[in-house]
Amino acid sequence: MKIETLAIHAGNHGDPTTGAVVPPLILSTTFERAADGSIVEGRDIYTRASNPNRRALEEKLAALEGGSEAIAFASGQAATMSIFHSLGGNSHVILPDDIYYNTKVIIDNLYANFGLTCTAVDMTDLGAIKRAIKKNTKLIWVETPSNPSLKIADIQAVVKIAKAKNIMVACDNTWATPFFTRPFELGVDLVMHSTTKYFGGHSDILGGCVIIPPKPSPIEREFEVLPIGATVATEDLRGVLSTSIRTFQTVGGAVPSPFDCWLLSRSLSTYAVRMPVHAQNAMKLATFLEAQTQIEKVNYPGLKSNEYHKVAKKQMRNGFGGMMSILVKGGQKEAMELASKLKIFKHATSLGGVESLIEHRYSVEGIHSTSPENLLRISVGIENIDDLIADFEQAFR
Ligand SMILES: *Cc1c(COP(=O)(O)O)cnc(C)c1O
Repeated sequence: MKIETLAIHAGNHGDPTTGAVVPPLILSTTFERAADGSIVEGRDIYTRASNPNRRALEEKLAALEGGSEAIAFASGQAATMSIFHSLGGNSHVILPDDIYYNTKVIIDNLYANFGLTCTAVDMTDLGAIKRAIKKNTKLIWVETPSNPSLKIADIQAVVKIAKAKNIMVACDNTWATPFFTRPFELGVDLVMHSTTKYFGGHSDILGGCVIIPPKPSPIEREFEVLPIGATVATEDLRGVLSTSIRTFQTVGGAVPSPFDCWLLSRSLSTYAVRMPVHAQNAMKLATFLEAQTQIEKVNYPGLKSNEYHKVAKKQMRNGFGGMMSILVKGGQKEAMELASKLKIFKHATSLGGVESLIEHRYSVEGIHSTSPENLLRISVGIENIDDLIADFEQAFR
């Protein structure tokens, strides 16, 4: 089935008891055993370990990304932690220099005592990736388009480098989502999402997930170092990873509530109709902004003038997503002024919701930020594009 159909039907088994077409929300934390005390087949036991709403959501997420299994978390950060945690201590990770800010904070802060280290490189510079590889490098983390400069890493080229050294590749696919980029088809080993963004789509559910690759893996690979220092064949790797990430979920307990799962499943039903509108609006807005004298540069991979357009065209489908950033002529003062004059675009963090948002990244990220001071990040919503452009026109005036 195609993604539009999967978004509606995958994981939706209705309710055989009542005939409800929409699956019921099951809040119970515990489930009854059989008369003899044995566990009833197919029935959950305790909701942290698993529950009907989470299983339904995970089935849908796995189907959308084309994976064999999805593991849902209470946030994108918890999902990311589950991957870093399963690498084991004294591992080294290579990640993009303009990665989602708090992903790097996990390594630098939460896992410092674990001996986890990282090197930040420009993921579009393949030579820099090769030079950053160490003996204990176990993972290359790709995030594309990147945040907030919208750089496009060539996933296939990164996978090729990683494969030659038995290093695993994980992709944070939060921004592109499978509607625009299919990381498993490009050979990555794990996909991570903050479902808070486009999957949720309405800025009202926090969540995350990790998706395990399909069987058989599109690219056959052998790993010597992953995870926990064991020698594992490709087939086993999928199992080892899915087990360690699943354990981090069920034992670690950073799980989404049944209501979060129910609401996210419901939001995903309209995912495939929201995404093309985000992309069409973003393309039109980027084209408009590029022509304005107050704007120094528009970072949007859909623009022909963009330095990453060629890679984006090869790697992305159905458009180039709903995210962009702009460099306002001047500095922080001019950028902030423009943001404050917009009426439809709310000055707020986050992205991927139906409403348009604009944000000054430098002041959000703090003193260690690598974002230019005149940069504004824009999450283009699904309002009428004429209204969005008119909003910028009145702000420029
Ligand atoms: C928001 C975001 C995260 C973190 O997810 P939370 O749901 O906020 O924990 C990770 N990566 C990217 C690209 C994001 O946009």
